Amino acid sequence: MTAWISLFSEGDASQKDLLGGKGAGLAEMIRMGLPVPPGFTFTTELCREYYRNNKHLPENFTDMLKTGVATIEEHTGHGFGSAELPLLVSVRSGARVSMPGMMDTILNLGMNDTTADALAKLSGDLRFALDCHRRFIQMFGNVVQNIPLGKFEDLLDDQRMEQGCEEDKDLSPDSLRKLIEAYRAVVLHHTGAAFPEDVWQQLALAVQAVFDSWHAPRAITYRKLHNYPEDWGTAVNVQAMVFGNLGDDSATGVAFTRDPSTGENLVYGEYLENAQGEDVVAGIRTPHPISLAQSRNMLGGGSEDEDVVMEKRHPKLYEDLRALMTQLETHYRDMQDIEFTVQSGKLYILQTRSGKRTARAAVNIAVDMVKAGMCGKLEALRTIQPSSLDQLLHPVLDPTVAKEVIGTGLPASPGAASGKVVFGADEAVQLAQAGEDVILMRPETSPEDIHGMHAARGIVTARGGMTSHAAVVARGMGRACICGMRELTFDAAKGCAYVRDRQVNVGDLVTIDGGTGELILGAVPTVLPELEGAFSTIMEWADELRTIRVRANAETEGDLRIANMFGAEGIGLARTEHMFFQAERISAVRRMILSESMEGRRLALEELLPYQRGDFATIFRSMAGLPVTVRLLDPPLHEFLPRDPAAIADLAASLEVSSDSLRRTIENLEEVNPMLGHRGCRLLLTYPEIARMQVTAIFGAMADVRGEGLALPQCEIMIPLVADVEELRRLRVLIAGVAVEAEQVHGMALPYQLGTMIELPRAALTADKIAAEAEFFSFGTNDLTQTTWGISRDDANKVLGYYTSTRILAADPFVTLDVEGVGALIRMAFAAGRAARPELKVGICGEHGGDPASVAFCVELGLDYVSCSPYRIPIARLAAAQAVKD
Ligand code: PEP
Ligand code: MG
Repeated sequence: MTAWISLFSEGDASQKDLLGGKGAGLAEMIRMGLPVPPGFTFTTELCREYYRNNKHLPENFTDMLKTGVATIEEHTGHGFGSAELPLLVSVRSGARVSMPGMMDTILNLGMNDTTADALAKLSGDLRFALDCHRRFIQMFGNVVQNIPLGKFEDLLDDQRMEQGCEEDKDLSPDSLRKLIEAYRAVVLHHTGAAFPEDVWQQLALAVQAVFDSWHAPRAITYRKLHNYPEDWGTAVNVQAMVFGNLGDDSATGVAFTRDPSTGENLVYGEYLENAQGEDVVAGIRTPHPISLAQSRNMLGGGSEDEDVVMEKRHPKLYEDLRALMTQLETHYRDMQDIEFTVQSGKLYILQTRSGKRTARAAVNIAVDMVKAGMCGKLEALRTIQPSSLDQLLHPVLDPTVAKEVIGTGLPASPGAASGKVVFGADEAVQLAQAGEDVILMRPETSPEDIHGMHAARGIVTARGGMTSHAAVVARGMGRACICGMRELTFDAAKGCAYVRDRQVNVGDLVTIDGGTGELILGAVPTVLPELEGAFSTIMEWADELRTIRVRANAETEGDLRIANMFGAEGIGLARTEHMFFQAERISAVRRMILSESMEGRRLALEELLPYQRGDFATIFRSMAGLPVTVRLLDPPLHEFLPRDPAAIADLAASLEVSSDSLRRTIENLEEVNPMLGHRGCRLLLTYPEIARMQVTAIFGAMADVRGEGLALPQCEIMIPLVADVEELRRLRVLIAGVAVEAEQVHGMALPYQLGTMIELPRAALTADKIAAEAEFFSFGTNDLTQTTWGISRDDANKVLGYYTSTRILAADPFVTLDVEGVGALIRMAFAAGRAARPELKVGICGEHGGDPASVAFCVELGLDYVSCSPYRIPIARLAAAQAVKD
């Protein structure tokens, strides 16, 4: 049987799952010989048993309680409920991960009239004893008996007023006695029963209340937000009280071993004299800084307030605290966040845990710790959350400025941006050309909007999920983007939008935070993050350690520059269609699509050829010597055609056909399920002249680069949406023919490899056959997720939003690779492909290539590379290093 109770002296840091973070930390500190008041933990297993048993504690619960308390009595020499030497305890929750403030805590438990008298005699401080008593009734009444805190606080205020004192620590014994009676009356009124005087009854009820708080609405919400399972349960820690409210040489506080926002190595925290833990948290009294260095940083130079800083006011205590904190940090080899109490000049530690920090602090701390020899590089890298690096790579909202949030959607592409609202891509371009910053708001985006997205500082869509067109493109471009803002609606007739009831007009100034998904009224200033030396050091270490390569999904000059800046080791996906939308090309593209004859199509393609050749040369130049995967045209052709009547009329005029007939042609091209329709290799097979033009451009670009004396990239030509090996075989023949011609024309060898995306279940299932024709596989996990789940990636948000919020699914499979389903296909295809062709190169180029958990899966599998949007490269490099085996 798993233990239901564990003494602090029995556990250790490795038992977080059973003892909770707090319990495991207390046990570990006892092992280290630190001053920790004795206690015991009711385990998370008991919590699970409690819920399995319809919220009934097991029969032997009272026995366990007595055994546990007896060990505290033995250590302290005090007795629970004793009229001479009373023992008081705290009862605190502690799940395996910290859920700050989400569950319950009760202090001073064991108070009643008898123990209060005894405590008064013992401490020689009547006021202190009465204060503990009234605090206990208040906390127990609120937490265990669900009486609103305000009922007690109003009475406390009344007493303060009556006595004319500012702080409750100045209340006289008489006032405190009155308060205690008034509190008891409140309890009687609310519960219909007198406040429990029996200390064992108090303790049993308190333990049960903490277990119950695991299902408090705020705790449930917190778990949902952080994807923590419901069945973890919380542990309950029962610990001897130490008193920070025993006079001016007593205090309580919290502190970090380093500054959590910058990582600077100093004691960073706050303390309050003559107070208990809840006073610091509740914010009723203003706590003071602990170290002078911190106080000087905060106040921007020396200040008269330094007299209240612990380092100055209690130098000996400060030194004791600092020494203990250093010991803890060295032991845990990570920045710690601790709670402490000083009772009559003696320091006790009540909690230690790894401290939450900004990305900037995380990076600085990791580097400092390795340099100080406190931990190894891999261990240090593992203290940094890869996704938090986003904070360092994009502009962020100035945290010192207030903001009015008017709506929230999915945080689709990080970064912050302000600008004037427009509702169309062309308007975005016009306004941007006039020198304005623009935020493009659309119901959704399509490839047709790409120029507007590029011109805009940020993008907001009402529909679409994390891998919708807008999200993918915005991340690729490094534009801030919010997707799937369901409270955003558009009124085409009035030419405005609404966020719930608030009207948004063209030209309104808004700010978006793509990291949180918040839409904010007005312009909030942004600050550019600085990539300091520590960031480069972290990246260097990650590169030393990782075994998988990291490439970029990029094709435009801007993206290539960022890809290079962030250390891409080649291009894993150049989506050639993105190049078709630029103003000077789109009309040739449209003529190519709409021309009725082969000859018309050939002429239009001839016009496009030099553009594509130039585009490819740009990519090849920027990645000399590195692998570059160029994917041939993928999207359904109708995506390139105009939709609104004015644009159709313009195009009709240029094609010398009637608007009506053009509209009919466009309608004919439309498909019910375009993502499952005439796209990918199906398009290349039915319009071979498109494939021919594209590979001619690729070989031409290689010749150009070679002609400039530059090293050639390792050119990889990739065929999208293959389902059957015959599709690939036919395109291989076509491309080989063009290659032979090109080598003759250019008079040089033009080496390339041909491979395929694996983005359909059938391709994965027949990977052995496909590998016979492919020199590389690249898992297109966006489409593979869509086709495996049968959920459209552009409409998924409606369903998946519900699924993740109700925990039908733990995570959005378009964001984090579904290892069980899609991952099984990948595993299988990878094994079959490598068995058929041992030298097969294998990578992933779906959005998952930049998601840390998915990167870890690719590392475990042994893929050659991951490829992701340029801004995610540092994240993937770090995640790849973290995933290596120890
Ligand atoms: C994919 O499907 O995973 C992929 C990379 O291709 P795209 O997103 O362009 O469909
Ligand atoms: Mg795809």
